Amino acid sequence: MAARKNVEPKPARCPDCEGKGEIAETVRVGARKGRATGDRQAALCLICLGTGNVPTDGK
Ligand SMILES: [Zn+2]
Repeated sequence: MAARKNVEPKPARCPDCEGKGEIAETVRVGARKGRATGDRQAALCLICLGTGNVPTDGK
């Protein structure tokens, strides 16, 4: 029997924010069309919800 080390699998890094947990989002103004401005704001990554890791389905 091979001794198995207790190694935790690394969680996959979120591709959208590259593990940062937040993304730079273009600020949009205007009621209807949402005209993009040159400004950017940090926004919570909606893929990983700020964790920086891709949520895994199975365990
Ligand atoms: Zn993310």
